[in-house]
Amino acid sequence: ATPISITTAAGRGAQAGVLIKDAEALERMARVDTVIVDKTGTLTEGKPRLTDVVALYGDEAEVLGLAAALERGSEHPLAEAIVAGAKDRGLSLGTAEDFEAVTGKGVHGTVSGRRVALGNAAMMTDLGFSTDEAEAQADILRADGKTAMFVAVDGKLAGIVAVADPIKETTEAAIRDLHALGLTIIMATGDNRRTAEAVAAKLGIDEVRAGVLPEDKQKLVEELRAKGKSVAMAGDGVNDAPALAAADVGIAMSTGADVAVESAGITLMRGDLVGLVRARKLAVATLRNIK
Ligand code: ADP
Ligand code: MG
Repeated sequence: ATPISITTAAGRGAQAGVLIKDAEALERMARVDTVIVDKTGTLTEGKPRLTDVVALYGDEAEVLGLAAALERGSEHPLAEAIVAGAKDRGLSLGTAEDFEAVTGKGVHGTVSGRRVALGNAAMMTDLGFSTDEAEAQADILRADGKTAMFVAVDGKLAGIVAVADPIKETTEAAIRDLHALGLTIIMATGDNRRTAEAVAAKLGIDEVRAGVLPEDKQKLVEELRAKGKSVAMAGDGVNDAPALAAADVGIAMSTGADVAVESAGITLMRGDLVGLVRARKLAVATLRNIK
């Protein structure tokens, strides 16, 4: 490509839905060698759907009904999927009391006088429940790229609910293009390792960091920069904002949280990684001109 000016680059970017904050963001984008991407909402549509309900004892409708009643208090995309799935199955949901959400882990509270907790293995461990008897079933779901969440009722593990979040149609080609542009791609997600690896394998992602808490995403950025890597971080959530701010270039998906957009040097208005490919090409063409 022929060298172009920063103004031209910004204009072309804007036309393609790529908002570049300033010249510095563009220059840094040209030097990036490593891209960290959040899974949910960045690689995937971020609109999970309930796919499976497993009852360890008792019935599935009860497990799902209690889980969904609890999730009415949460705004997490996983919560919305569970509530919608329960309604689709014709369940009427109770209301939760003493509701509490634990970031990156899950939720707990009281539904119809019963103590209910829902979340990942770390959440169950924190509450003193073993997930051993359900791990084999959870692994079957995870191998399919599904997110499996454990449900505990009245002091024991009662079941599993699983959701699937489809990969965006444009993701696979965008990852291939980013590789062709010489970038290493790392997935960072709060989701389970097996689920994350199933998704990463489909996409040819180079490295997976699973089970990471929001502050760990920022640490990962800092760790790579300390090794001399030039890092772009792409994410959509409130959780991703600190990592976006710590990166050489923060890349926000406009479909995500406003705070992510505020922390970003580049915003992808179309909400998919095709914009990242475009941003990289524009940045390289522009830098060639400045040097
Ligand atoms: P991501 O990094 O993929 O956006 P989060 O950090 O938001 O994921 O959550 C990590 C994990 O914690 C989820 O995969 C899920 O197992 C559990 N979790 C978080 N919030 C909830 C919730 N409201 N209900 C059930 N599980 C949850
Ligand atoms: Mg997320």
